[in-house]
Amino acid sequence: MDENSLNMNVLIAEDDIISCRALEKNLQDWGYEVLVTKNGEEAWEIIRNGGIRLAILDWSMPKMNGLELCHKIRNDYQPKEEKYIYIILLTGRDLEEDIITGLSAGADDYITKPFSYMELKVRIQNGERIIALQDLQLQIANTDSLTQLWNRKKILELLEEELNRNFRDNKPVGVIMLDIDNFKTINDTYGHLIGDKIIIEVASRLQKKVRSYDKIGRYGGDELLLVLPGLSRQDAKNIAERLRKAVCAEKIQTDAGPIDTTVSLGVSIFDKASRPSTKKIIEKSDHALYMAKERGRNSSVVSGPDSAIEKDTQ
Ligand code: GH3
Ligand code: MG
Repeated sequence: MDENSLNMNVLIAEDDIISCRALEKNLQDWGYEVLVTKNGEEAWEIIRNGGIRLAILDWSMPKMNGLELCHKIRNDYQPKEEKYIYIILLTGRDLEEDIITGLSAGADDYITKPFSYMELKVRIQNGERIIALQDLQLQIANTDSLTQLWNRKKILELLEEELNRNFRDNKPVGVIMLDIDNFKTINDTYGHLIGDKIIIEVASRLQKKVRSYDKIGRYGGDELLLVLPGLSRQDAKNIAERLRKAVCAEKIQTDAGPIDTTVSLGVSIFDKASRPSTKKIIEKSDHALYMAKERGRNSSVVSGPDSAIEKDTQ
């Protein structure tokens, strides 16, 4: 495996300046992005902000030593974070009981000083292999296998995250429940495989139209859930219409010939003042979707601030 393959941020926590510089220089030469800290407390501050996948920790450090930091990463950070941090403990201690203590504290690997840089390099590469496997596992667990969008569990988690993040910055969040129109008829007329192709193509057309920071997932069956951070009430109708038109603009080409496909969208906007539960958000977006279906399908409805239906355009 190429050491650059993950474009990984590696954290070094080492109080000895000379060892630290040598480590930093070697890691940079091997292509890693390196963050350097001089004690456990500084390292912890960086780790808790996220983004570190591999940490090389010296055992003996002021303020918080490497062993304490290992415990903290495993007990305080890891349970809340799905991405695993691979830890290599670096130390002058080479007694069997020290090695056992270090690995029991949550280190994945252990190197005793003095060590060869070539050995460190291959140990880091082993760590990268574990991280890549875990990333793959996460991707499979979070992805809908038909559309490659986020699956239901993940899109609901992302909804929660975006609400928290945006409300903290006083920004609104738009939520769209989108459903393919008369999809049962498509299945009944052309069969489920063609139906699958329609879902895949609808997902792909929508994916191309949303902004990079919008989140889109398959809520279930022919229903998709979109989370649009910062979507204002004024922009909601335009965005929903743009998405609707992106789906119906051209027939979808299938083995059974081109098929006209339309979708209906229920949009709701939430802000800090109305901090709703996920259940409430889904209910409100579902209600707007229901109104869009009632109004003849191939339409979008933006629900009002207090569940009054505000707008409706075909
Ligand atoms: P409406 O316009 O009211 O939404 O009508 P509809 O016919 O689309 O009704 P509904 O949304 O309730 O239909 C969803 C259908 O989607 C029912 C189910 O058989 C089908 N379905 C669910 N998952 C899949 C899938 O993975 N592949 C296929 N081909 N069909 C699916
Ligand atoms: Mg439907």
